[in-house]
Amino acid sequence: MAKYDLAILNGTVVFPYLGPLRADVAARGGKIVAIEDEIAPADAEQVIDARGKLVFPGAVDSHFHIGIYRPIPEDARSETMSSLVGGVTTVLSYFRTGHHYLDKTGPYREIYPEVLALTRGNAYTDYGYHIGIMTSAQIDEIDWLVGETGVSSFKYFMFYKGLNLAASSTAGLDYTMSDIYDLGHLYRYMQAIVRANQKYQQRISLSLHCEHAEIIRTMIDEVKALGLQGLEAYHRARPPFQERLAIAEAVLLADVTQCPLNLLHLSSAEALQGGMKARLDYPSLDIQLETTLHHLCLTYETAHGGIESGKVNPPLRTKEDNEALWAGVLRGEINQVVSDHACCMLEMKRGGVWEAQPGFGGTSLIYPVMVSEGHHKRGLPLARVAELVSAQPARNYGLYPRKGTIAVGSDADFAIIDPELEQTVTTELLLSAQNHTPFEGYRLKGWPVQTIRAGKLMFDRGKVVGQPDGVYLKRPDALYSAQREPVPA
Ligand SMILES: [Zn+2]
Repeated sequence: MAKYDLAILNGTVVFPYLGPLRADVAARGGKIVAIEDEIAPADAEQVIDARGKLVFPGAVDSHFHIGIYRPIPEDARSETMSSLVGGVTTVLSYFRTGHHYLDKTGPYREIYPEVLALTRGNAYTDYGYHIGIMTSAQIDEIDWLVGETGVSSFKYFMFYKGLNLAASSTAGLDYTMSDIYDLGHLYRYMQAIVRANQKYQQRISLSLHCEHAEIIRTMIDEVKALGLQGLEAYHRARPPFQERLAIAEAVLLADVTQCPLNLLHLSSAEALQGGMKARLDYPSLDIQLETTLHHLCLTYETAHGGIESGKVNPPLRTKEDNEALWAGVLRGEINQVVSDHACCMLEMKRGGVWEAQPGFGGTSLIYPVMVSEGHHKRGLPLARVAELVSAQPARNYGLYPRKGTIAVGSDADFAIIDPELEQTVTTELLLSAQNHTPFEGYRLKGWPVQTIRAGKLMFDRGKVVGQPDGVYLKRPDALYSAQREPVPA
């Protein structure tokens, strides 16, 4: 029997926080067990020649929506398959009770085991869930969710408050299927998260969708009166200042409670400014800033397919906003870059700007966008690319160093990237069930040629070669690592 299950030879390994180094890497039992100057090919069952390639840690796509518009099993299957194309080996998906997803509410003690059972055996990546606490009764389940089920991060949607008043929609209490979902709920929610932080001595955090319901309500009326259409109308109905206002409200409550925050999908210069101001105003607070691939790359004018492809919350904005977010990435202000992947079929995107469903996929473009637009075009160091899409999300959500790095003892998850491979994005290339992409026609240089999870080749030059046998990740890992099987000798 060979010493190793798998060896990746002759490549340049991109170590987060260190940089690229020439090294060979070997895996056994799903873990990295050797990093050497030279490993003999005869020592491994399977050898991957990575000459001329970059060996990155598998990406941790920490903003994902499995099962939001389609049944969880089939959505998990097709969309985590799409992740492999982008070098993603772990997804952290959002789940909440209410409209969409399972279209029901109740205690997570009943619903969360169902979510896990529906996902099991259907994911090509490893996976975990962030949970939206939507009702006051669910607040009492936070301790159980952290301590028993492995959920270390939660979500609150600033813009669900008062949406029942919006002229536009079926939203509001019907939508969330909750009792009163407002800042009072958020305050109690934050207090419960902080109690879990203290009890488990780990980063248990709250992710915030920062948009402001009351401003959106009035702006929709205004934009409708002007007769504006398309993605520009959507942008104007949810202007950047309402993101900043939502951030300002939320961070004040976070300061009062000392709740660690992740400000999700910052879409504009103004939102980034709001996040940076919060850090200055509340220096003791832990505030992580996130942006998405589409907010870095697309605008309301350039998204392919217009409203029928590119409607998303928060909306696509302007070229100036794209560049302001890239500047925030380059300055190290933004901590994580994600896809906010939600498979939303063309059929759901029809009916005009107000009726179309928001969201689209992007997980398959994580490394291509960051290597092409970040590294090649803007000089973002390779180590920073690995930090933004792998190490930092792994740290923020309790997976580091099991995930997010290349070290002996870490999971053997890799994206092997050909930095010179140039491809134009097409819907077919992404291996998602989604039948359109607002990135159609986008040219990117630097694509994964192979994706490896737990020492197994999953994706090889455009083809999926692995099985949907990804495992559920209990987080924070430090709390659960003792329960796991040791690496076989
Ligand atoms: Zn999202």
